Amino acid sequence: PRVCVVGSGPAGFYTAQHILKVPGGDLRLRGRAGTCPPREASLRCMALSRVCGGLEGSWPCSSVVGGLLGAAQTPQGHPGPLWALVDIYEKLPIPFGLVRFGVAPDHPEVKNVINTFTQTARLERCSYYGNVTVGRDVTVPELQQAYHAVVLSYGAEDNRVLGIPGENLPGVYSARAFVGWYNGLPENRDLKPDLSCETALILGHGNVALDIARILLSPLQLLRKTDITDSSLAALACSKVKRVWLVGRRGPLQVAFTIKELREMINLPGARAVLDPADFTGLESAVRDASRPRKRLTELMIKTALEKPVEMQAGAAAPREWGLKFQRSPQEVLPSADGKRARGIRMALTRLEGLGDSAKAIPTGDVEELECGLVLSSIGYRSLPLDPAVPFDSQHGVIPNSLGRVKGVPGLYCSGWVKRGPTGVIITTMNDSFDTAQSVLEDLQGGVLDTSPSREGFGLVESILRSRGVRPVSFSDWEKIDAAEVARGKAAGKPREKIVDPAEMLRIIGH
Ligand code: FAD
Repeated sequence: PRVCVVGSGPAGFYTAQHILKVPGGDLRLRGRAGTCPPREASLRCMALSRVCGGLEGSWPCSSVVGGLLGAAQTPQGHPGPLWALVDIYEKLPIPFGLVRFGVAPDHPEVKNVINTFTQTARLERCSYYGNVTVGRDVTVPELQQAYHAVVLSYGAEDNRVLGIPGENLPGVYSARAFVGWYNGLPENRDLKPDLSCETALILGHGNVALDIARILLSPLQLLRKTDITDSSLAALACSKVKRVWLVGRRGPLQVAFTIKELREMINLPGARAVLDPADFTGLESAVRDASRPRKRLTELMIKTALEKPVEMQAGAAAPREWGLKFQRSPQEVLPSADGKRARGIRMALTRLEGLGDSAKAIPTGDVEELECGLVLSSIGYRSLPLDPAVPFDSQHGVIPNSLGRVKGVPGLYCSGWVKRGPTGVIITTMNDSFDTAQSVLEDLQGGVLDTSPSREGFGLVESILRSRGVRPVSFSDWEKIDAAEVARGKAAGKPREKIVDPAEMLRIIGH
């Protein structure tokens, strides 16, 4: 059978990995013919599990061995029913989605999953076609004609809007655009955020909000060693921002960030936390029966709020500082006197109704204004519909599905953020992608998908793309771009200098 996956982020790659793996998965690397002898297989298994690292402990060694040694072919020498070929289509020339364009540059260890994705892409039965926008260059019904199964893993490429006056003033940015800018996402490379003010305000209490606060306040020498783009480093070098407020509609017990990210912020050199002890009154007992992560997180906030700030050495530059503001809901971004940019924000104070995660923020009627020249709204990403042929639940921003099977469209599947909404870390995405892949495998095995008619796969798509003047980028093309980025970064002591212009990427590979 031929399967295609749309999107090359974690969801796309983990779905492909699982389909290629079980059972009788052929883990031969591209260009290596023959079956591995048992010793080589187990050595390779060990190497693979090392590559997987902590995050990917769920690529179980035993099933990898099963894959390497297992029945990739039937006794007659024909490929078995699950011996699928997987083609991954990606709209950008370059793969890996938010691992490259979302994960913060100072979190290189998170990006190690790229090693596993690269192993998958190099498998003989896997092909990567970048520079192909599904829904524009090729439609989903066209893919359905070319493949037995189509998996949509195209993530969440838009952001939720605040829906308040002043939201479009200069000085107001979505977290998505700001993160895309410092991470070299082509569409955000010209953002040029105005960092000439002293106070920035981030709306949202999630890990993305903390990532942004950290990038705004990190000492430059820490960022210089990362893969942050040169142009954003230059802008941050001139930044006047020395204070960052993170504002949420609800209270400390409802924050969505996790303890690792909070601790990193608390320990950020040259920046001090400003938390109001009054915000935490009575929370120690309230959190006693909460889950362990929530309890530890709250205790860390309380401890930080009660700690006396470390005095700065006499003569030292004014410290950078950051703080959490709770129970404030944005009402309006206030314009400067000339109306040309943001100068502050008006917020409604709220009280909480209900407990825990389900507590609701209700405006008390009081308002507060806060001066800030930079407003970043970090209230969530949002998936968009891809193709009229694909059902889409606009209210929840997901493709309606049951265990990854798109409702009402046999042969169509989804995984990742477009399947379950834009929350969760890479490991959450991995688990739900494995579930979707399992549904595909079950449908292939159980005859739900008729694999008797042969499908041309990329052969058919290639002719469609050629007729539309689209030239796909292969994984080995990406590896050339990768090598060019690494070489550029080396000179500056960085892991890589990202190329941000797709035209330049295509020039490097001679397109
Ligand atoms: P994505 O990663 O967005 O991948 C979707 C892919 O589909 C993209 O490559 C996109 O270009 C492609 N695509 C879109 N439209 C089309 C189309 N029409 N045709 C073809 N291709 C298309 N998780 C962690 O574990 N640790 C972290 O430190 C961490 N940091 C994060 C920081 C930020 C700012 C964000 C937003 C998320 C972070 N996450 C982190 C979460 C993690 O990135 C997600 O769980 C994961 O990337 C979701 O995977 P996905 O494949 O569904 O979406």
